[in-house]
Amino acid sequence: MQEELLNSVVKITKTRDVDSLEFSLVSTIHEFIECKEIIIYKNLSEFNSSGVERSASLRVDEENNFVWGERDILTDTSQELASCLHSACSINIQNKNGTEQRWIPVLLNDKPVGAIYIECNSLCSHQQVMINAFCRIYENYLTILNENERDKLTGLLNRQTFDRKIKMLMERQLNDHFKIKAEKTNRKIHDDSTSWLAIIDIDHFKAVNDTYGHVCGDEVLLLLAQRMSSFFRASDLVFRFGGEEFVIVFEPTTCAMITKRLEEFRQTIHETDFPFIKQLTLSIGAARMSPYDFPISVIENADKALYYAKEHGRDQLVFYHQINKKQSIAAKSDSDIELF
Ligand code: GH3
Ligand code: MG
Ligand code: MG
Repeated sequence: MQEELLNSVVKITKTRDVDSLEFSLVSTIHEFIECKEIIIYKNLSEFNSSGVERSASLRVDEENNFVWGERDILTDTSQELASCLHSACSINIQNKNGTEQRWIPVLLNDKPVGAIYIECNSLCSHQQVMINAFCRIYENYLTILNENERDKLTGLLNRQTFDRKIKMLMERQLNDHFKIKAEKTNRKIHDDSTSWLAIIDIDHFKAVNDTYGHVCGDEVLLLLAQRMSSFFRASDLVFRFGGEEFVIVFEPTTCAMITKRLEEFRQTIHETDFPFIKQLTLSIGAARMSPYDFPISVIENADKALYYAKEHGRDQLVFYHQINKKQSIAAKSDSDIELF
């Protein structure tokens, strides 16, 4: 038993990213305690977003099959989960049929950032100690991984995390693509519904630093990052890519929808009063990201669109697929001018 326990600790701490850590914790708890259900919840308000995410989850169905759940953002949470996240205290309910439900808080720097839900038969004291120990190991390791995945100044996902997340996202998209084809469902697949990548770059940011100093520049970066986290949905991945450059990867949606969201954000920032500086504007380059694209070429496309936006007056959103059209319209209007 002791050897098995040690091996489990090795397994948990061998993971190198938060997603694998979550799956490792759920399967380890299940190995030692026969549970009906285990769920890891993330409190998104800790990341400037709203709602609670159901992350890794495992359920045992009536035929004793293990069913891994899909990630989901919950708009409505149970009272027990809400009070566990609010109070940072464990909540335990004993049911009449001998089963029990537990919500154990997960703390990061003393703040409740999530909870682990366990539903099982009544636990003996030895099992309770074991579950608590696993949760604390998870918590400690999560602190370290979180620091590695996020940018120190803004708390957004960093450049290193981008490569891993994007690889996972593309694989998932490809799987979904095949699944839909194989199922031959009559689900209507909209041609335009793909993922999108946008690069957001602050206009003339060097001037902010030069005029008001680096501390003010840092404050502006932090405020903008907070605005991004709360404006975009929790399922949209927001990264600080470099100094004053941010990348957002959007879940599959139509071009019209993505245009609306990005335009709204650009306009919101245009109208926001930042400390010291009168106005801050953003240039945005965006590109479609289909399951067969290489991430590097999607970034290159978005970068070309951003370059076009910078060259043509800044404070605007440009899509890669629009550049040619825009260029030919500009060429046409130039030749019209020459005629007169
Ligand atoms: P453009 O509109 O063409 O993007 O002009 P820009 O001035 O924003 O772009 P440029 O690439 O010339 O300058 C980017 C500036 O961002 C230079 C650098 O001092 C600043 N910067 C990068 N990282 C940080 C940071 O972490 N904090 C602060 N305060 N400034 C940063
Ligand atoms: Mg810039
Ligand atoms: Mg830049």
